[in-house]
Amino acid sequence: MSHRVYLALGTNLGDRLANLRAAVHAMPPTVQPLAASRVYETPPWGYLDQPAFLNQVIRVQTELEPQDLLAWLKRLETDLGRQPGMRYGPRLIDLDILLYDDLQLESPTLTIPHPRLGERAFVLVPLADLAPDLQPAGMDRTIGEMLAHLDRTGIQPYGVDSNHFDPE
Ligand code: AMP
Repeated sequence: MSHRVYLALGTNLGDRLANLRAAVHAMPPTVQPLAASRVYETPPWGYLDQPAFLNQVIRVQTELEPQDLLAWLKRLETDLGRQPGMRYGPRLIDLDILLYDDLQLESPTLTIPHPRLGERAFVLVPLADLAPDLQPAGMDRTIGEMLAHLDRTGIQPYGVDSNHFDPE
């Protein structure tokens, strides 16, 4: 069975645009990217003394179960050169599962919808490019409504729009 999943991509080290592209291209054959938001440059969050991030959200189709998908993404982060580091610190690439169909899941290693989805403009701004009217499982507001309550200061579309494909 095929599942509709939204993934968040973030990077603030090295050639950030190349890191995003590499992550999209290195998805396993069982994970097909269908749409991508614009790329946004966003101020660091949590730990402020680090370079700005680029963030993007992609919609994929996959037959992988959530834990298998997470394992793939963690492996991909390592393959792309991510070193273990501090929480919220600089990173070559960060890959998170935001939404997986209408699934609500809480396990020691995986929470879906992503637990901090509603608090972070750097996730909601690109997600709203793809699905502003989507209401995540267990939440009482749409992506657009959540975003309307957040401070999006400093979040800007980055570079040319060539990464943005097939919006709904
Ligand atoms: P990160 O610092 O973003 O690489 O995430 C650290 C850990 O968060 C991962 O190793 C996962 O076990 C856990 N995690 C919990 N929920 C999620 C999710 N929805 N997507 C990705 N990682 C998650």
